[in-house]
Amino acid sequence: MEKFVIAIHGGAGTILKKYMTAEMEQDYLRALQQSLDAGYAVLQAGGTAVNAVRAAVIVMEDNILFNAGRGSVFNSDGGHEMDAAIMDGIDLRAGAVSGLTNVRNPIEVAIEVMMKTEHVFLSGEGANEFAAGTGAKMETEEYFFSELRFNQWKKSQETGALQLDHTPVDDEGHAVAVKKFGTVGAVACDLNGNIAAATSTGGMTNKRYGRIGDSPIIGAGTYANDKTCAISCTGHGEPFIKAVAAYDVSCLMEYRGLSLEQAMKKVVLEKLVALQGEGGMIGVDCHGNVSMIFNSEGMYRGYKTNDGSQEVAIYK
Ligand code: ASP
Repeated sequence: MEKFVIAIHGGAGTILKKYMTAEMEQDYLRALQQSLDAGYAVLQAGGTAVNAVRAAVIVMEDNILFNAGRGSVFNSDGGHEMDAAIMDGIDLRAGAVSGLTNVRNPIEVAIEVMMKTEHVFLSGEGANEFAAGTGAKMETEEYFFSELRFNQWKKSQETGALQLDHTPVDDEGHAVAVKKFGTVGAVACDLNGNIAAATSTGGMTNKRYGRIGDSPIIGAGTYANDKTCAISCTGHGEPFIKAVAAYDVSCLMEYRGLSLEQAMKKVVLEKLVALQGEGGMIGVDCHGNVSMIFNSEGMYRGYKTNDGSQEVAIYK
């Protein structure tokens, strides 16, 4: 039997255990399981890796717990700007968008860029115009409002800090200034041994208007190539861009013959650490091997394979 597998993440640098209530932890684990099941169902029905990662990411974009789609963080202007990317390992086709506003599912727009244009990456106004033209579902500002994100943003504004996501609030409802991340992503290997990766994010709390992180950048936060691996990253975007993190894993496999796990460990535990790049990544190869590596306190994550093994987890 051919092996197929899906892996997902809902951000690295998880909420510190002392701020995580049992109820919140259950909410996160349930949400991760829902996303995993949605992606797995596609693979089980013989669907493609691209459709599996799409299904898994949409579930998390629709859940306010994650910093993507609905739960996207506030930028310095008090708005939401969302980035997303998808890549198909069969032929290196890719689609990416940045600076989307009011779009319910940015990953759908990235897919439209991949399928229906001769381009790879659309940004800002052009991306939003394109999104509207595809008939993408739009939402009002209220849809993207959450008190937690608002408090995180207010706190960031007070301190002038740029914050990553999953920042907890203290007893008075004030965000505790701890660096956190909450981007979502998925990678899959389908029945035919084709692989794909997708990533979607609201970026970083209080990010400068127009800032683009690693998530939508092909090779930095997202990459897929059937010859090597499919990778989706999460963490402090700037070091991931400098490290060309996702593509570096692919290069280590292609040119140095490392296994998926060896290559991911080298990039996440050595290269990114040297650049102070807190975060992690999930990866699969075309043989159905899966790996989830992070250098942060935790990473919301999960995987499921057709040989019966599966896991959803938050901490180390
Ligand atoms: N990598 C994302 C960014 O820098 C943030 C995250 O993963 O949470 O935009």
